[in-house]
Amino acid sequence: MTPYPSRIAVDDAIALIREAAHSHRTGTESLAFNRAGGRVLADAVNAPIALPSFDNSRMDGVAFAHASLTAEGTTWLRLVGEQYAGVLGGLHVGPGECVRITTGAPMPEGTDTVAIREDIVERDGGIEIPSGLRAGADVRRVGEDVPAGAGVLRAGQVLTPARIGLAAALGLPTLTVARRPTVAVFTTGDELVEPGLPLLPGQVYNSNRDLLMGLLRAEGLEPTAWPTLPDDPERMQTMLGDAASAFDVVITSGGVSAGQKDHLPGLLKAHGRIGFWKVRMKPGMPVLFGAWDRALFLCLPGNPVSTLATFLTLGRALLDGLQGRDDPRPVWQARLGGDWRKAHARLEFLRGQLAPDGEGGLRVVPNAADASHQLRAAADSNALIVLAEGLRDYADGDIVDVLPY
Ligand code: AMP
Ligand code: MG
Repeated sequence: MTPYPSRIAVDDAIALIREAAHSHRTGTESLAFNRAGGRVLADAVNAPIALPSFDNSRMDGVAFAHASLTAEGTTWLRLVGEQYAGVLGGLHVGPGECVRITTGAPMPEGTDTVAIREDIVERDGGIEIPSGLRAGADVRRVGEDVPAGAGVLRAGQVLTPARIGLAAALGLPTLTVARRPTVAVFTTGDELVEPGLPLLPGQVYNSNRDLLMGLLRAEGLEPTAWPTLPDDPERMQTMLGDAASAFDVVITSGGVSAGQKDHLPGLLKAHGRIGFWKVRMKPGMPVLFGAWDRALFLCLPGNPVSTLATFLTLGRALLDGLQGRDDPRPVWQARLGGDWRKAHARLEFLRGQLAPDGEGGLRVVPNAADASHQLRAAADSNALIVLAEGLRDYADGDIVDVLPY
């Protein structure tokens, strides 16, 4: 028996990550509302004003009191002024009178109904109003979108552009959000060469650093890439130890299996703490999680598709937990576009092309190149297809979960 959980289910790994992330929450900061896009809201927001904050016209036209209209036929109303969007002009509209009004203009005193421009006729210094208008037609009432004081945003929500727009509409100058975790990215392996340099026999270009940097930036983070680590435990200890003392999160790729050159499990065990090692998933089985100094460590397997799949499932769970995000990540369902035989009992994340099926559903076509080094198939795809734990033959049309990426 290992002194830490091993060969655990993906859901259990996510639960352990969430637990660790919860005790390492990043704290909060106050940001100008227009700098807070993409952040996780830390405090609930209540509306300081109502929306709309005054009764106003929904359309361009004329405003009047509904009581001025005759029961049947059109009504001629004398035009006594105009109220455009902006400051309320102090007009008072009496019985038998109307004013020109534009969209968003406040309803002048004495008016409660709008007739739209397209439906009216101008004649003899006044306006013919058609019959059949209901009281309050084309008026947007104060508070009908948001009553003053209402809770409009919850802690844990991600600040989408629409939510930033709402904060602006409410006049909120600042929002309290979770601080972004600082993330150090390490790739490891004596065989790695940076793109642009000559490739000697036996070497491979480092794909995972910029794969990870891109994934992290897509989460709105500003990760720091460190020079690639050789498979040398002393060098690794020094550099990882430095990062462990300075960053919230250290993400590594490679060196997590049980080979002669896989030093990460031993280093984490000796200098930090292992949270779990090995998850029953394919690709990504040897993934390692733990803590060292002030940082949480997520050590991803080196095969590029394993790096991708473990980041999308476990890495994002870690970042979400650290920031207290509770907006769920989208998990969709789609019909499998083809037969698939699951040759392994582990939960499998296939790569596939997800698209509308033209009949109101989604269809996902698995890529046949399913090995964990086949990065091209991942690049040709836009979703992970989740095949649950256990052996099973899948048939064309079976419903599967998909994680778009
Ligand atoms: P490892 O997890 O270190 O045993 O590596 C597994 C496989 O992934 C090996 O074929 C490595 O050469 C490859 N690999 C590891 N790191 C990277 C990287 N950063 N970029 C591309 N391939 C890598
Ligand atoms: Mg390696």
